[in-house]
This record gives sequence, C-alpha cells and structure tokens, in this order.
Amino acid sequence: MKPYSRLSLLGFLLISNWGFSAERPNILFLFSDDHAPNAISCYPGGLFDEISPTPGIDRIAKEGMRFDRSYCTNAICGPSRASILTGQHSHLNGFIDNNSSYFDGLQTTFPDLLRKAGYTTAMIGKWHLHSNPIGFDYWEVLPGQGAYYNPDFIQMDNTKKRFDGHCNDLVTEKGLTWLKQAADSDKPFMAMVQYKAPHRNWAPAFRHLNLFDGTDLPEPATLFDDYANRSSVLKEHEMGIYKHMYWGHDMKFDGKNPFPAHFSSGLPDRQFGRLSEEDKKIYRAAYDDENTKLIADMKAGKLDQKAVTKWKYQRYIKDYLRVIRSMDEGITKILDHLDQTGLAENTIVIYSSDQGFYLGEHGWYDKRWMFEESLMMPFVVRWPGKIKPGSVSQALIQNIDYAPTFLEAAGAEIPSSMQGKSLLPLFKASGEAPSGWRDSIYYRYSGERTHAVAAHDGIRTADHKLFWVPKTKEYQLFDMKKDPQEMKSVHQDPAYTEVFTKMKKKLDDTRKKYRVHSAVIGEPRGAGWLKRHSSMSTKAKNKKHDLLFIGDSITQSWEGPGKDTWNKYYGERNALNLGISGDRTEHVIWRLNNGNLRNQKKAKVAVVMIGTNNTGHNKQAPSEVKDGVNRIVSTLRARCPEAKILLLGVFPRGLNPDDPKRKNNVEINKLISTLHNGERIHYLDISDKFLNAEGILTKEVMPDALHPKEKGYQIWAEAIEPKLKEFGL
Ligand code: CA
Repeated sequence: MKPYSRLSLLGFLLISNWGFSAERPNILFLFSDDHAPNAISCYPGGLFDEISPTPGIDRIAKEGMRFDRSYCTNAICGPSRASILTGQHSHLNGFIDNNSSYFDGLQTTFPDLLRKAGYTTAMIGKWHLHSNPIGFDYWEVLPGQGAYYNPDFIQMDNTKKRFDGHCNDLVTEKGLTWLKQAADSDKPFMAMVQYKAPHRNWAPAFRHLNLFDGTDLPEPATLFDDYANRSSVLKEHEMGIYKHMYWGHDMKFDGKNPFPAHFSSGLPDRQFGRLSEEDKKIYRAAYDDENTKLIADMKAGKLDQKAVTKWKYQRYIKDYLRVIRSMDEGITKILDHLDQTGLAENTIVIYSSDQGFYLGEHGWYDKRWMFEESLMMPFVVRWPGKIKPGSVSQALIQNIDYAPTFLEAAGAEIPSSMQGKSLLPLFKASGEAPSGWRDSIYYRYSGERTHAVAAHDGIRTADHKLFWVPKTKEYQLFDMKKDPQEMKSVHQDPAYTEVFTKMKKKLDDTRKKYRVHSAVIGEPRGAGWLKRHSSMSTKAKNKKHDLLFIGDSITQSWEGPGKDTWNKYYGERNALNLGISGDRTEHVIWRLNNGNLRNQKKAKVAVVMIGTNNTGHNKQAPSEVKDGVNRIVSTLRARCPEAKILLLGVFPRGLNPDDPKRKNNVEINKLISTLHNGERIHYLDISDKFLNAEGILTKEVMPDALHPKEKGYQIWAEAIEPKLKEFGL
C-alpha cells in the first residue's frame, strides 16, 4: 500500500486487541527450503557463527523476535508448506508426503481468507505442492523443485517461461517488482517470497562459487555417529555423507565416478546441464583445483574413508552456505527496499524455512527425522512498534500457527478448521507464552520412497521428546536437557519410567487433540486388494473417464447384482467403477492418491458413497468418518479439477431404524452433509428411497440389510439420474 496515503484507509481501520487502533499491516513472508537454524548466525550455538553466514536474516531477529523452539509438523518440503497454508497437520490437509500427495488449493487457506478480507496477495518462488496456487492475485512459481540455474517459472496462464540467472536472484527481483507494484494499491499486501535455496543440490550463484575456498569449516560433533543406543532403524538411512553423496549431483564432479566405494553413481549434476557453454567453463574452473587434487590423492591412496567423508562434508557445507549467501543478499535488498519506501514501519516481516536440515549431524544431510536439526524451523519476525527488538521466545510454536497469526494480524477471523494458534499474544509479551499455551508439539512423518527413513510420529515438550516407530514397534525417548544431541534413547532406563509413562499418555492425548485417527490416514490393504487396486489404476491410466463411482462393496457390486442397471444407465457414459469390497475411508484415501485417479483430470462427475465399513469395523465415531470423507472429497476436488462431486449419504444398514449401526450412519450423514457447497461438492441423501414407510430395509432391496440387490441398484440409479443430468452427463 502507499505509505503516505493512510488517511484514505480509514475504512480499514480496526481496533486491534493490543488496545489501540491500527492500520492493517502488510505481511511479507520470506521463506526458504531446508535452511537449518544451525546455519543462521542469529541462532546461538551454530557451527558457523564466526563467519556470520546470514547478516540479512540476522537483521530481522535483531530488529524483532527470534523463536528458539519453532517446529514443523512434518519435515519435508510440500507437507510443511501445506501445513502453513491450511493451519492444519498433514493428515487433515492431505499433503502427507512429496510423492503421493496433491494439494487441494480449494480447502481453507490463509492467503484466500486474506484476499477475501481485502488484502492483495502474491506467491513468488518455490511452491512445490503440484497443483497451481489458488488464493493469490499474483503468482509465479517454480515447477516442482525448480532449478538453480536459468530456471523456468510457471506463469499464471499455466505456461512455463525460462529466465536467465540464478534462482535466488530471480526470486528476489520478482519479489521486489511485485512489492513495487503493490505499493500503488490501496489494499494492504501479503506476499510470500519463497526461495529454492538451500535445497539440494546446492548450486551457488557464480559470484559465490569460490566463497570459503582455502578454509576448513567446522564439523559437527556427531559427524561420525554410529547410531548406538537408539533404534536400529536409524542405521537403515540413505542420507549419509559417508555413503550417499552422488559424484555428479552432490559433489559437482564431471564424468564417470572412479570411486564407487566412496561416491554414489548415476545422478549427474543437472544444474550444470542448464548452463551456457561459456558458463559451463566458469563453473568447472571454480571446482577444478579441488576436484583434481582429490582425484590425485585418492589414486595415490592418501585418503582413508574418514578423510574422504571429511572432504565430502566440506564440499557439501560450503556449497550449502554459498547458496544461502545469495538468498541472504536478496533478503537484505528487500529489507532495504522496505526501509527506503517507508513500508517497513507497517509491514510484518517473517523469515522461516520449511524445516531444518542435517549439516553433518548424525553423519547426515537431508531431513525427515524428528531429531532437532530437521524438526526445527527458523522463525524470526519483525514488526516495528509491536515487537520488542532483540527479543527471544522459548515458547513451543509450530508451522500450523502461521496462518492464524497472519489472519489475526489482518483482523480477519480464524476458522475453526485451523489447528494452530495465533502468535500475536507472544509477539505482544516479548515472547512469553500466555497461560494455557501448548506444552508439546506433534510431529508425524509418513515415510517416502527416498532416503529410507521409517515412518514415525511423536511429541516434543520443553524437556523431552518421544516418538513411536510403527515399523519396529518401539518408542524412542530423549532427555533434551541432558542429551541435546539425542545420542541415547532412555525409554528403557529405569530412571525415566515415570517420564516415559507420562510422555506416552501425552502422545495419545495429543493425537486425539489433533484428530490423528485411522479414518483419515491413508492405508493400503492385502495382496488381493492390491490386485484389484492396480487393475483399476490401469483402467484409469489407459482411458479418460467421464463418470467415476468411488466406494466399497456396494459400489463394487455394480459389477454383480447391479450389472444390468449399470449397463442400462452407465454402459454408454464412459464410467469407471472404483469400488472395493470392505473398504473404509482410509483405504479409499490411499487408492485415490496412488493410481486410481491417474489420467482422470477431465472427469466430469465423481459419485462417492463410503463410510459404512468404518461403522461396521468398530462403530467409528461419526466425526472421524467425516474427516475421512472430507479427505476423499478434497482429494477428488484437487485431482479431478473439473469434476462435480456427488457425495451420497451413507446408505442405511440394519433392519430397523434403531439398529446402532443404522444410527451411526445417520450421524455420519448429518456431518458429511455439511461438506455440501453447491459448487464442486453436492451432497445427496437417498437413504429414504431404500426404506419402507416404517423405515425398515426390506429383503427385496437389501436382503442382508447392508448390500443392495438388483432392485436396490435400480433405486440408486434412478435417484441420482437428475443430478447426473444437471452435471452435464
Ligand atoms: Ca524442504
């Protein structure tokens, strides 16, 4: 907004809960990828504090507040970003991993709410949620991970455009260009300026290719961790500096890997491939002396395994800090711009990163584990006049708090779907948490095919950390005060019996609080099921369908007792049956994210009827089944962006109206009916059509009071036909 035109903004004045009226602040959210607090000089105790790697970011902390216990919900790129946008943990917003998930941008997100509240909004840089951004007046994002050199950006018309230069510099420039334009608007702004750096493969701006040459940077104390005294799953990792650094991609060598015992092969340095011929020469020359010397020393047998690991660590960490340098320069430029234009005064500036990263601690690079180095997110915030400069908070905060914070700062309502809490009370109180603030954070990593880190979930309190590894059915407990490097799990130590018991109870309670339950967490079933799943996925892959039916045995049996009706109604309508007998919501969630919707972007209608097996299995609470159904509907909305979703009430079961299972389904229907929005999602309850006047399920319709017979399928087809026609089928 125009800094000197505030009188025209009287209409936007509000009484803040800080007790004085204030103009609504601009929000500038600077964000990066994989930036560990240990590599930020304003965070005390970092290995590189002496070389001050981040003067720009340090300035935000110096003029504002630093949070020392800032954590992510799920330490990978996409999931952290989805939690930030929605204020929800991954299992509820559906973006649980980078491989199978696909973000539904139509769910409640803070940018969209801010826009509705009168903000102008922008998203520039790394997005990494597969679907295009929604809720922004302007966006320009990197495709997937994006490139460091001469990167492509997806434009708002969905075309890709290549730009010359280093990605960090381009993100800074694009951010500045937008900020300058936004200054002409009468609206306050919210801008997300999101860097790719310092994500692997750490390709520096050319001006920094030789930064730190000739010096050895310090090593972490746990670089040669042997993983004793902790779960055996730690040793299974594929993210070690010693074993898993690629000759080309990570270590920046050209040609064939001559030392396969020390370096991984098969992944070339793709960033190199993006350079012009001239730049390729400059790039090679920058690494050439060190590379030539290493090869000669290795051939001469001068380096043992430990020495090679140390060499790799230096190459890795220098490139990591080099890519941070150009980002930090960009942040400085942006801060200078805010100062020069007078915008600084009424702009909240936040710097954070989607999670931390291992800088050699435990012998690792990468993230995923619930250990501090990757669980932590940097979080520094400046808000002149509101936040005391140089303040530090020890409160437990999490990325689900960002959305409520931004909304409250803008004077907008915080929706009840958001699981985080606004940080404004902490800003106001110099970082002190108000009474009743959370005393633990919840973390959940669902596993991915890369890096071999076992799925786990857990909590971290001020003093302890507990996590559960389903694969080996074991807990890990750490005393964060006595063992901050997490080198020994004390879950079997008799001295910790009481702590262990309390922490286990707290983990259970926290899971309940955040609605971590089976109905919403995608889960595959056994071999027979997988066979049908993959045959359906093949059908999906081979053909675009117009009409999808999604559900359990009741849907599958369109192929049995429903066959004639199916042929009559859907035989010529390009329909696909995605029903599997016995499925609960969690199984459908898994299927939809693992192949069943491949190639179905053009589907016109998806008919969903699911939930009765959640009732049959253990009479699962209707609120939990609703979470599961919501996830299914949300997944369909994202993956089939043109489809209307016809969400059917769960069909009646049990002979009589007072059958407990019948009643459970009725309660589920009450809740899922609220998912209707008349736009993409249409709820329809056809239950009554299966019942006689007394509410009895007759044998003629459903002989076992659960599965329809031929007549039941006719009733179903007739009942939804008007809707299908309305949707253009
Ligand atoms: Ca990341």
